[in-house]
Amino acid sequence: MRFDDGSTIAAHAVVLATGVSYRSLGVPGADALTGKGVYYGSAMTEAAACAGTEVFIVGGANSAGQAAVFFARYASSVHLLVRGPALEASMSHYLIEQLAAIENVHVHTCTTVAEAHGEDHLEQVTLQDARTGERTTYDAGHLFVFIGGEPRTHWLDGVVVRDRRGFIPTGPGLVDDGRRPPGWALDRDPWYLESSVPGVFVAGDVRAESVKRVASAVGEGAMAVTLVHRYLGER
Ligand SMILES: Cc1cc2nc3c(=O)[nH]c(=O)nc-3n(C[C@H](O)[C@H](O)[C@H](O)COP(=O)(O)OP(=O)(O)OC[C@H]3O[C@@H](n4cnc5c(N)ncnc54)[C@H](O)[C@@H]3O)c2cc1C
Repeated sequence: MRFDDGSTIAAHAVVLATGVSYRSLGVPGADALTGKGVYYGSAMTEAAACAGTEVFIVGGANSAGQAAVFFARYASSVHLLVRGPALEASMSHYLIEQLAAIENVHVHTCTTVAEAHGEDHLEQVTLQDARTGERTTYDAGHLFVFIGGEPRTHWLDGVVVRDRRGFIPTGPGLVDDGRRPPGWALDRDPWYLESSVPGVFVAGDVRAESVKRVASAVGEGAMAVTLVHRYLGER
């Protein structure tokens, strides 16, 4: 490993846990209410708190659609806010159909969040119609933001296999129809948290298909360390 200050450390095993840079909503009020009704990514743990409230979800991709389906089971209404004129360009067809069949899901196209309001917790959101500029304020219990994030893996380009979004696949995600990743020299498949390079393990948000939550990141970190010990023991 080579570091910013020019120093290097020779290592037999490495754990990559560099996380994701989430795009911020960047509207007045949202930063102060993050974690207090405004959440980035899937805060499934908030489901019970959403019971009987108005939930707003920002984003037009599958992750936002899946969250809308999930929270519709708890919230009185779920409002899916989509910047573009239609979902078709960004969401899978099956999900669009699923959303259309759920009575308490309302899709607002050409709509962005302009402001979030609240003291100790989110209370209202102001939405803006992208066509007319008209703003309307609604009562809101929760606002979930799914406008994308970028894994911090640019520096690993060409070193480990990354998926098309830059996340690092591990274990079973690297074995395609029984074929191990290119360059894999060991006589075994990559272990569950092992990347395409033997001895390089991945934990947390940066790992492809990981659950983007603190508890799972911590759990994977602990598991990765166990795998490092196993790897070093078998060398
Ligand atoms: C606004 C917001 C609110 C959230 N709220 C919740 C919540 O309520 N509950 C919950 O469970 N989860 C929440 N999450 C998700 C949670 O924060 C992540 O799932 C968790 O932090 C992932 O941990 P991680 O260790 O994988 O990555 P991170 O916590 O992102 O840590 C990665 C670390 O690696 C460092 N790093 C990056 N690149 C390099 C490099 N090249 N060299 C050295 N260091 C590097 C970074 O500086 C950072 O310190 C939230 C996320 C956001 C953005």
